Amino acid sequence: MSYLKEKILEDGIIYPNNVLKIDSFLNQQIDPTIMKKIADEFYEYYKDKGITKILTIEASGIAPAIILATKLNVSMLFAKKSKPSTLEKEACYHAKVYSYTKRKTSDVLVPKKYLKKDDKVLIIDDFLANGEASLGLVDLAKQAGSNVVGIGICVEKSFQPGRKRLEEAGLDVYSIVRIEKIDYENQKIIFKDGH
Ligand code: 5GP
Repeated sequence: MSYLKEKILEDGIIYPNNVLKIDSFLNQQIDPTIMKKIADEFYEYYKDKGITKILTIEASGIAPAIILATKLNVSMLFAKKSKPSTLEKEACYHAKVYSYTKRKTSDVLVPKKYLKKDDKVLIIDDFLANGEASLGLVDLAKQAGSNVVGIGICVEKSFQPGRKRLEEAGLDVYSIVRIEKIDYENQKIIFKDGH
């Protein structure tokens, strides 16, 4: 069994409504050894794809994305979920993202100057559920005219429609772990093979 499946079984806490909490190593406290293994796996899959930029969304995508960016020797850019006073609205690309866990829509943004039309962008996120966050990031990259090379996900909840929506949009998705089912009543996680 892979390191990430083992860690999820060890530390994961199952909440109602198919929410999995993994805040001992990814969503709040960060385990650098696990982050390094995640980055190594993404690196093996994406190393020859000419990536020039990694794009993620605050906060939990940042840890795996920054370690992968170090390996690929490219910059990592994260979308913010609210506009700081130091950023002009017109100087940013914006996209609406509905958060599955927070049950609210945010206007996510990145400064235009950090995404260019010749960029080959790899999107990284911690979870994939309905695909809202990833599609929002794709939208930001497309506004810049850049090319989205792929979407790298740490934990995909395959019973939710995110992957299908991304693949229907012509995007290549690589998930380190895929979850077939989260059984809240019996507190069980059933994994799905493949990436
Ligand atoms: P989506 O946008 O694909 O619907 O959901 C992915 C986003 O919602 C991720 O950025 C992640 O932060 C959050 N998310 C969705 N499902 C879960 C979950 O089961 N656990 C945690 N911790 N975050 C989740």
